Amino acid sequence: MCLFCKIIKGKIPTNKIYEDEKVFAFLDIQPVNPGHILVIPKKHVANLEEVESNDLKALMVVIKKMGSRLKEKLPCPAYNVIQNNGSLSGQEIMHLHFHLIPRFEGDGLKPFPQQKYGLGEAESIKERLQF
Ligand code: ZN
Repeated sequence: MCLFCKIIKGKIPTNKIYEDEKVFAFLDIQPVNPGHILVIPKKHVANLEEVESNDLKALMVVIKKMGSRLKEKLPCPAYNVIQNNGSLSGQEIMHLHFHLIPRFEGDGLKPFPQQKYGLGEAESIKERLQF
């Protein structure tokens, strides 16, 4: 059983924020900023490709609620929603999870660095990705 499944089942103590039939939310034990919440499906799936649409919908509704809650009650002026898919992206626990990271003035966190496309590169990628 994975770490998050153990947390859901109460085998590992956690600071639970929210729970319903499909969704569980708790404080990350190693927060990027205080109030950093993880929102996870109760059904074990490794990543975004594996989650059922109805469970994803339930997750997003809770994420929206949690975001408002953070802004109002923490409080914080802004927050990030981050979801990593695969080890290379930074996913450490292979149970789908969304990070809600409160943001504060001067917290020193930087956005991802950006780059430019080479000649024709964007068109080529678009052709591969279009449905
Ligand atoms: Zn799990």
